[in-house]
Amino acid sequence: MGTPYSAILTLMVTAGVINVIMGIYILTNRAKQSMSKTFVAHCLLSAVYIFGSALELSAGSLEEITFWIKVEYIGMPFLPPINLLLIMYFLGMERYLKPALRAGLFIMPLVTVALVMSNEMHHLYYRAITIRPELGFLKVDLNAGPWYIIQGAYTFGCMFGGVALLLLYWGRMKSAYRLQHITMLVGLLLPLAGDFAYLGNLTPQGIDPIPVIMAGTSALYMWALASRGLMNVAPIARDNLFESMSDGVLVLDMNNRLVDYNPAAAQVMPQLSTYSLGRSIEPLWRQHTDSTLIEETDSQSTQETLWEKDGQSYYYDIRASVVRKKGGQETGKLIVLIDVSERVRLQQRLHELAFHDGLTGIYNRTHFLQLSEKLLAESLLNGEPLALLLFDIDHFKRINDTYGHDVGDRALLHVVGVCRNVLRAEDVLARYGGEEFVMMMPGLSLEEAEAEAHRIRNALVSQPMALSASPNGFIAVTASFGVAVASGEAATDDWHDMKQLLKAADRALYEAKHAGRNTVRVANRTVLV
Ligand code: GH3
Ligand code: MG
Ligand code: MG
Repeated sequence: MGTPYSAILTLMVTAGVINVIMGIYILTNRAKQSMSKTFVAHCLLSAVYIFGSALELSAGSLEEITFWIKVEYIGMPFLPPINLLLIMYFLGMERYLKPALRAGLFIMPLVTVALVMSNEMHHLYYRAITIRPELGFLKVDLNAGPWYIIQGAYTFGCMFGGVALLLLYWGRMKSAYRLQHITMLVGLLLPLAGDFAYLGNLTPQGIDPIPVIMAGTSALYMWALASRGLMNVAPIARDNLFESMSDGVLVLDMNNRLVDYNPAAAQVMPQLSTYSLGRSIEPLWRQHTDSTLIEETDSQSTQETLWEKDGQSYYYDIRASVVRKKGGQETGKLIVLIDVSERVRLQQRLHELAFHDGLTGIYNRTHFLQLSEKLLAESLLNGEPLALLLFDIDHFKRINDTYGHDVGDRALLHVVGVCRNVLRAEDVLARYGGEEFVMMMPGLSLEEAEAEAHRIRNALVSQPMALSASPNGFIAVTASFGVAVASGEAATDDWHDMKQLLKAADRALYEAKHAGRNTVRVANRTVLV
């Protein structure tokens, strides 16, 4: 046997063994992750290909050579798509690796294997395999068939695709992984160069160098993937957690450029894509909220930030924390976006229900009583009067009885609508009971309050409620008013107590009802003393 030939054989066997060892190592340690499985497949299929090639070289007859070529093809056609998958894992493109894409990549290699195995029947892969003796070993001349060209194109397509992805992601990859990035690129370019050398007849004695190069490639890949942290279970578990978290997470560098984000963050900020990586997040951020990206240096949280998305309002609890290197030096920020919209809406609704009347939306009795105490205290403090108007809809029962409860409800809304048009900003209107309302008007004297009550009463008279069910298309909704005023002079005023004031207004309202309804009565303070 000639020296170069045995040297090549030795190299090949070594390469094969290295691949088997790497494959078994990964398999026994951490083959649970799909990337590790892919890498194991890469090593073992490379080994099959390499040993097949070695045995092809040492074969002694055409039959043996043909047999070992078939063995090589059990491994070789799968390696380019597997390379491509590993590159995608390396670049963090798992999210694009849908099962259909993963499986689809292996259709061509499977067809190739089938055609190689059955080549004698159709000669679609090799038209002919002939041998000629050369310097101590048999050299095969392969006459390529149509599928050989197709498989070749696919192989180069996958490899150039890998190169293109690596180059495309050059700027987006964290710079800490630059060396690994270069290693992956070299791992691809080496077999490509070998292929070109082989096709250009530049290799020693026309021997295919790829099987030997494959061993080096696997080692390079293993180093790049492992030192990128992709072979360790802990970072992978962390990555999986990151990917599957329901809270959006953004990783930013010190200049607010996006370093990483999880799928949940892409839900919160739909314009986020891999193109956003390496770019400032601020323009995108401003599309959603007025809240500034947290600039402070230490962990803090903003509760319930209003967040606009797809024309709708959401609430997010935004938590930012500083990411530090082992030495404590700041390297970036971690922003967690937690959707609290449901909780905030519930709180708003509860708040609404606690303070407001469910039908009319104005304050309820409980809230009114709290507010009125405050208003009265303020009036006393400022020495200003505070007027209280209590009014009750006349013959409301009739409306309910004649037209039904729904029309009764509408009448209540109608009265509130008319009052709102008359009220000043500082006045407070509340529903005091079923069809009884109360109004607080700060600063009005007894005479002014009486005039105001008449103004509202008149407004109700002049604006009957439209109702198609009634004979003339309208129904009159009138009310009777009782007015009481706290003078604001605590020392002389009997009604500095809210309960007393309400009682006086109620008495006046009772008088108004008795006087024939749709009228106003003013409490005479002397009556109460
Ligand atoms: P008066 O002129 O003396 O005030 O007579 P009235 O019929 O207005 O007074 P009454 O107190 O006899 O009847 C009030 C009715 O209001 C009884 C109740 O069923 C009805 N009511 C109370 N709350 C509501 C409501 O939210 N919606 C409707 N549709 N009716 C209500
Ligand atoms: Mg009534
Ligand atoms: Mg009543």
